[in-house]
Amino acid sequence: MRDGTRHRGGRTARAGLAAALLGLAPWPAGAQTPAEQAPPAATEPADRLPAACRAGIDAGARAAGLDPARVAARLDGLAPDPAILAATGAQAEFVRPIWAYIDAAVTEARVADGQARLRDLAPTFAALEERYGVDRHILAAFWGVESNYGGGMGEAPVLRSLATLACGDGARAGYWRDELVAALRIAEAGDGPDPLLGSWAGAMGHTQFMPSVYLAHAVDFDGDGRRDIWRSAPDALASTAQYLRASGWRPGEGWGQEVALPAGFDYALADETTERSLAEWAGLGLRPARGERFADAEAQAVLILPAGARGPAFLLRPNFRAILRYNTALAYALTVGHLADRLRGEPGFSRDWPRGDRALTVFEIRDLQTRLSERGHAAGSADGKIGPRTRAAIRAWQATIGLTPDGYADPALLERIRAER
Ligand code: CA
Repeated sequence: MRDGTRHRGGRTARAGLAAALLGLAPWPAGAQTPAEQAPPAATEPADRLPAACRAGIDAGARAAGLDPARVAARLDGLAPDPAILAATGAQAEFVRPIWAYIDAAVTEARVADGQARLRDLAPTFAALEERYGVDRHILAAFWGVESNYGGGMGEAPVLRSLATLACGDGARAGYWRDELVAALRIAEAGDGPDPLLGSWAGAMGHTQFMPSVYLAHAVDFDGDGRRDIWRSAPDALASTAQYLRASGWRPGEGWGQEVALPAGFDYALADETTERSLAEWAGLGLRPARGERFADAEAQAVLILPAGARGPAFLLRPNFRAILRYNTALAYALTVGHLADRLRGEPGFSRDWPRGDRALTVFEIRDLQTRLSERGHAAGSADGKIGPRTRAAIRAWQATIGLTPDGYADPALLERIRAER
């Protein structure tokens, strides 16, 4: 789930991606992945939380109605964890290509393990589908991606992790403080283990809920009176289903599908934001990557080519947007959708990724963004992240010089723009 920068592998989300991808308002703060954090403020080694920061936490806890003595009992002995601040402050220089992310997350072992879980918990999954209308393969895919089906839920004490971030990550201190207060409320409710355990960025349980999301959406599905996403997979899966429904999941619809583009396709149509019905896409020559015709002609979808004209193309349905609520990275959401398909028994992508390509470094992406902006193609701030605005700027520039406008940034493209005067 949307939490720290690189917990469980290279999450490079931008909050604006989903918004621009599907024409939505930006996500609420609680659902964002704080991907680009400024290096945290320097802190002296300490055996306790800095006094000013602690006062802010205490005020937040009081406002939430928590007993000050009980909050003190939980926080007085907490010392910041320097390893967390070091991890948060490290700036990722290299960007993982989307296929590397998907390959690492959708392994044969993870598919087999997930299918075994679907068999073992078949009655639970049937009840979840009945209650929430969310496909069991999607729920299992979240479970697999977030914690390897419970095998890696994180064993860091959540209060200490969040207190460290609330007092050390100046750029997002307010976000972490709110999550810490939420975690204090959860600890007091007593539904989970004491101390609460999670990732170093505070994501908890089988499906890695942040505390604020837990408070809003966690469910007691097994009926033992506790919303226990740590020790009850049914509770965690139901909580995810509930969160997806609250995020707009449409029962009976998929996330999207891989498609084949016709020869001579006008790549200007793949602008990531224009919804067309599947019938209209078919009229433009698109076909399912496997199969002859789209099943649901009136359904709306946007077209995206995450790795340009040489990689696979996808039509994304509105449910993709609900997956992005969990984590705003395109690579993440595509991974969940693809793992769900594989768990259902479908094969891998029909078209391979341009695996020979080296990924651009953050520095190179910044350079590309700057050069695009200098040419009048607004790429947003030069943040070193490829998002929808950067891809749109690339498409516009590619069109002006007669290249296929697929919006894909590779080393050849950077060389080309650097060679221009
Ligand atoms: Ca329960």
